Amino acid sequence: MSLIHRILDHQTINSWTCEKMVYPTREGGRILEFIYSSKQFKTKGGLTVGTATTHYYASEEFKIKQEKTKCFTCSPPEVISGGDYKQSTYCHLLLGLYFCDQVEFITSTFAYSIVQAFREFEGVWREICDDIRQGTLGERITSPKMRKAVLAIISPNPSLASRIEESCTALETLNWLGLIAKLWPSAKYVYSIMTGSMQPYSNKLRHYAGGLALVSADYGSTESWIGANVDPHLPPEDVTFAVIPTFSYFEFMPLYRENRDCSSAIDDFIEDEPVPLSKVKVGQEYEIVLTTFTGLYRCRLGDVVEVAGFHRGTPKLNFICRRKLILTINIDKNTEKDLQLVVEKGSQVLTSKGGAELVDFTSHAEVENHQGHYIIYWEIKGEAEDGILSECCNEMDSSFADHGYVVSRKTSSIGPLELCVVKIGTFKKILDYFIGNGSALSQFKTPRCTSNQEILKILNGSTTKRFLSTAYGY
Ligand code: AMP
Repeated sequence: MSLIHRILDHQTINSWTCEKMVYPTREGGRILEFIYSSKQFKTKGGLTVGTATTHYYASEEFKIKQEKTKCFTCSPPEVISGGDYKQSTYCHLLLGLYFCDQVEFITSTFAYSIVQAFREFEGVWREICDDIRQGTLGERITSPKMRKAVLAIISPNPSLASRIEESCTALETLNWLGLIAKLWPSAKYVYSIMTGSMQPYSNKLRHYAGGLALVSADYGSTESWIGANVDPHLPPEDVTFAVIPTFSYFEFMPLYRENRDCSSAIDDFIEDEPVPLSKVKVGQEYEIVLTTFTGLYRCRLGDVVEVAGFHRGTPKLNFICRRKLILTINIDKNTEKDLQLVVEKGSQVLTSKGGAELVDFTSHAEVENHQGHYIIYWEIKGEAEDGILSECCNEMDSSFADHGYVVSRKTSSIGPLELCVVKIGTFKKILDYFIGNGSALSQFKTPRCTSNQEILKILNGSTTKRFLSTAYGY
């Protein structure tokens, strides 16, 4: 069975789980899908190469899935594979609203795409309403194929446009709280990957969803699909993934954290010999190693998972983080998860005291130009006073619990944490950079730590304010 078939099976199984059992949807309804194909290439040997989702959206199976589940995507293939994510997002939103009364659920591969789309919507809703009213497409859509395909679907609908306009005018005063529930009255849930590096977006998604269920999607990768969320009713924070043993041959490499203070280690974990699926233990952390039926032999996935329990004999995995340490200067070692927790603490101060909101973040371990220290870049929405931002900076510095970091800060072998506030739109520029270099928007994940010189140039060139922590007294 090919990877595509297995993805189809997984998606079909999942939509049965969601639609028939937990959140029933109406047959013949529509799906608002923020999905984007990237380019496919041919190898010298004639094989087609691309990301899993790109293959999938271009495949017959994508059509078959819609026919079998009797739920149809709002956008035509010309929008999905348009190649310009800004134009595709506009058309996804326009068509999603055009069919708003029929939309049964809203989805994307990773939660980032939904949040990104609605942030865009906040700025373009008037234009979308004009297009719905007149059955037109504004000049921003320059792709002839996309224009033709969308214009073939829509026709003037002044009453719908006025209804949406009225809702948006009210929603704008509420900072778009409950946007999804209000504009898509038939939607039953929002479905996307919300765990791991997507967790920071779940609060914003919840804000937009306005009480609508957030269903955290399954655990997979381009190499192989891995596990299904068999408890779709659980909030994203509590979701685990039941490994589907037929997706690949899975092995689990035990990881131990005993070496946290070992300065020579470049990685946080001690590894043990991989064990088969039947030998995993509850509470133990592992790295997944998989062998696919289509060629990849013993591929290390680079993810850390914890066995949370079993579902009918198969392990249920808690996604912990990407394997590599991301912030390390000295004896300090902080993972993506550690950074996420620290940023969460800082952003709580930003929201509660500063009345502003964190849009996105990344970090960098600065070791070249100044005293070695961590830099955290924040894009924020709203105006927060400098005093509050300074407090956020201190809060983050003191929230890193890693012993190596705390000791290094106390002995001043690592300098004060620096918070850089960047201009609105900076993370969009970063996204553009990755898309321009061939990444697929559907699978894009903001790097939580970067040493990429181009990205650092964008970040440093967009920094408007800098704060140095005084949490350790200097
Ligand atoms: P890709 O290489 O773009 O195919 O992405 C695969 C990676 O995305 C995995 O190795 C994970 O790190 C991440 N990922 C995929 N599904 C999930 C999930 N449900 N929760 C957390 N991370 C995920």
